Amino acid sequence: MDVSQVLHMNGGNGDYSYSNNSLLQKRVISMTKPIIEDALTNLYCAMNFPKTLIMADLGCSSGPNTLFVASELVNSINYIRLKLGREESPEIQIYLNDLPQNDFNNIFQLVSEFRNNLTRPNSSLPPCYFSGVPGSFYTRLFLPKSIHFIHSSYSLMWLSMVPEMVTTNKKNIYMSKTSPPSVIRAYNEQFQRDFFKFLEYRAEELVSGGRMVLTTLGRRSDDPCSKECCYVWDLLANALNDMVIEGLIEEEKMDSFNIPQYTPCAKEISNEVQKEGSFTIDRLNVSEVNWAAASTNHHLNITKKDAEGYNMGKCMRAVAEPLIKSHFGESVIEEVFERYTKIIKHSMSEEHVKLVNVTVSLTRK
Ligand code: SAH
Repeated sequence: MDVSQVLHMNGGNGDYSYSNNSLLQKRVISMTKPIIEDALTNLYCAMNFPKTLIMADLGCSSGPNTLFVASELVNSINYIRLKLGREESPEIQIYLNDLPQNDFNNIFQLVSEFRNNLTRPNSSLPPCYFSGVPGSFYTRLFLPKSIHFIHSSYSLMWLSMVPEMVTTNKKNIYMSKTSPPSVIRAYNEQFQRDFFKFLEYRAEELVSGGRMVLTTLGRRSDDPCSKECCYVWDLLANALNDMVIEGLIEEEKMDSFNIPQYTPCAKEISNEVQKEGSFTIDRLNVSEVNWAAASTNHHLNITKKDAEGYNMGKCMRAVAEPLIKSHFGESVIEEVFERYTKIIKHSMSEEHVKLVNVTVSLTRK
């Protein structure tokens, strides 16, 4: 699987689009707002109130969250400027980056509306310009020393490739309690290689004193197979394994499918930062978000628990459908996600299930 060509969230504005099924990820962006604001305040002061600020959102996807991040950045700068009594607004350039298959057309339509609102007469908000940057953040994306601030949320757990495995990850599609140790090692090493490269490239692109706030899906535990990070994929594996037993999916297909993700703990993040050496860590924060955050729960005439499970199922479909489709084919998609959603609903009715987020705030030395 060529991850950079296959991976994208479901585009458009349909029922299973990322646009309409990314409330959980939005909640996480909101939770990290104080950390972003802190980093921007320090940046703005340390740079002596520059007239232009160049920012980038990496793995911006397509939909309301893309603009939510952009508005958080613009509003934060404006708030900081007013708080510090600076009369003149800086002008802001925001680069929106994602892989080439991302629905950039959808973003561009939303962005022009957003800009019109920003630049309304009497708006005190800073002038703001947007550009789309297609490409993997595991490559160079920007000119050397050209960026002041980099943000990324819920994107860095995606690896550049499925780790190369010497043993089959039988019946699993991610790291799991029953995965062979060599599989866990392969995942861990791929994460280290990718995150190290990511830091190297960003170190080249950021100005000295530039900042980054990165949030990734992660874990608290030292155990890479702990439930907090693997459960959501274990449940998808359950649905796929049932379909193998019923002859709806070939066993070899199941054996050769693995999710290109790694959910690091805070220590693994800080180890790579120290190894790479270009950044100081200002904050390293671990938080949690309940699966139920995927749900607004307003529009459905079913019980709250059922609505939460249904919406988490849709959230996972918006994220994983392109990967599943490219590997198993279009014909099984409905069946896979119907079963997966049922399994998610069941586990959410039994227990409170959470995802763990690791946020790191960094300064380029
Ligand atoms: N930041 C958004 C989107 C998260 S979804 C939010 O918080 O809602 C994760 C996004 O990361 C997807 O759009 C995916 O295409 C993108 N992504 C994954 N790997 C990437 C890579 N190597 N380079 C750029 N974008 C990547």
